[in-house]
Amino acid sequence: MPMTRTLDDLKASLSPSDRMPLVFLGHGSPMNAIEDTTFSRAWTALGKTLPRPRAILVVSAHWMTRGTTLVDVSEMPKTIHDFYGFPDALYAQQYPASGDPDLAREVVTLLASHHAEEDDSWGLDHGAWTVLKFLYPGADVPVFQVSIDMGRGLDYQLEIGKTLSELRDRGVLILGSGNVVHNLGAVKWAANSTPHDFALEFDTLFADRLTDRNFAALADRQGLGQLLRIAHPTVDHYMPALTIAGASDARDNLTFMTDTIDLGSISMRSFVFHAD
Ligand code: ZN
Repeated sequence: MPMTRTLDDLKASLSPSDRMPLVFLGHGSPMNAIEDTTFSRAWTALGKTLPRPRAILVVSAHWMTRGTTLVDVSEMPKTIHDFYGFPDALYAQQYPASGDPDLAREVVTLLASHHAEEDDSWGLDHGAWTVLKFLYPGADVPVFQVSIDMGRGLDYQLEIGKTLSELRDRGVLILGSGNVVHNLGAVKWAANSTPHDFALEFDTLFADRLTDRNFAALADRQGLGQLLRIAHPTVDHYMPALTIAGASDARDNLTFMTDTIDLGSISMRSFVFHAD
């Protein structure tokens, strides 16, 4: 059974490796991008442990398509401010990393059986840039997004992760950005709100199944039943966690980070699969 380790263990063990780790981050509120929070601090700390990739492929909860998997092949993906009613300082944020059109086109070919197509209109949504600015603050690593096909089952994202996993051996960091529990309708806006029972229950179930590498159980809508429906009224924030799980294999160790529930119903649980 692979061990679960702490962030300190991870810092000690993430020496340069030929095989890139896999990262899933619970991104939560866009305000994390401009506030000093336990989450933004953890992302900065993680960024200091990660090897420098050739490129970063991001699967974000906020790029949803239907019937196709789009891959952004643009030279300079634009920073998208896809939220409403936030302070001007957040709209002023830019993440000026370049894209990687050649690699992105290879990904279209790799995902041909998943109805992949080129796109040059998206860019970097807040699921991507609000965390990337802490992981790689210099914006000096090429980055591009791959959409999630909301017309498919959960197991489809496991398959996509599995197909993408070969990129890890070519210096590509695959980053998933969503939330392990995400029910905006149940958010409690008061400071230090206690978590809903359903949030704790799904978050714990997810962590246990992930630790056991029982990914099939995590993609089993019927088996997860009502608990999934209340933890994720829509599954867009769940899907990227499955992509990352699907890209892992038996050689990987698993490290959890920031395993807290924010605002009562948003799990900030994050995790890293790493080969050494
Ligand atoms: Zn989000």
